[in-house]
Amino acid sequence: MSTPAYDAGRLALMLNELRLPTIARLWPEFAQRSDKEGWQATRLLGALLEHELAERAKRRIERHRAESHLDPTKTLATFDFSMVPMVSKAHVMALATGDAWLEKGATVLLFGPPGAGKSHLGSAIGHALIDAGYRVMFTRTSELVQKLQAARQSLQLPSALAKLDRFDLIILDDLSYARKDQAETSVLFELIAERYERHSLLITANQPFSGWNDVFPDPGMTVAAIDRLVHHSTIFEMNVESYRRRTASDKQNSRRRQSSSDNHKEGATNMAE
Ligand code: ADP
Ligand code: MG
Repeated sequence: MSTPAYDAGRLALMLNELRLPTIARLWPEFAQRSDKEGWQATRLLGALLEHELAERAKRRIERHRAESHLDPTKTLATFDFSMVPMVSKAHVMALATGDAWLEKGATVLLFGPPGAGKSHLGSAIGHALIDAGYRVMFTRTSELVQKLQAARQSLQLPSALAKLDRFDLIILDDLSYARKDQAETSVLFELIAERYERHSLLITANQPFSGWNDVFPDPGMTVAAIDRLVHHSTIFEMNVESYRRRTASDKQNSRRRQSSSDNHKEGATNMAE
């Protein structure tokens, strides 16, 4: 004699109350298979819970990606390492797993002229870390400085900085564009000091440290900021010509080659006539 079935409507209500949308969606099909194939009760329960957990992890990563403000097209898959031979792909791949360097709040610094691929490489590392379960925020440095200054004006700076603690990594893009007038209130220094040895930063800048005097209010603060940033850091100097310029001139060259070989062909046909 079989036991009476549980009321499906009540099951749906309880799954909703417990916020288990995946189980709510899958259980009818799973229960049917389980009844037909005579699964053990533990197998049915285990299968449903595993699906709920997997979907939950997927949704969490999607949320992290949405909050990160990362450009979805700038990933490791679209980054051509052959363009920056001085950057070790193996080293970048190791950073992209997170782990040790994020745990000690270390810094990654990407230096190079405009168009060298700094923002792309920084974003690519950010995406990989999100895939690995970390939380990342990408921002132009000047934009974040503006927000933090507004927070300071309304006496909210400590709580604004504390809110940023939820990110395992903050990518500060174009640090050397944050100008002194902006930095007057030194919020950038406070961000660096606040995260030091606790949470990581990845910084891109057109100028290496020697050009950072304009970024902080006074030389003492510049030295103190750099000191903290380099303490646990990886530095990539991407001294290559602009990617856009190189790919544009590659295209031009191949067009030139193409048209000269077309001329050749025409020449050949002409001669054959
Ligand atoms: P930077 O931040 O150094 O000024 P970007 O990362 O913005 O340079 O790169 C400029 C453009 O060239 C972007 O569209 C970027 O995707 C592309 N780019 C740069 N370097 C590479 C590379 N190595 N592989 C693929 N695309 C690249
Ligand atoms: Mg850039």
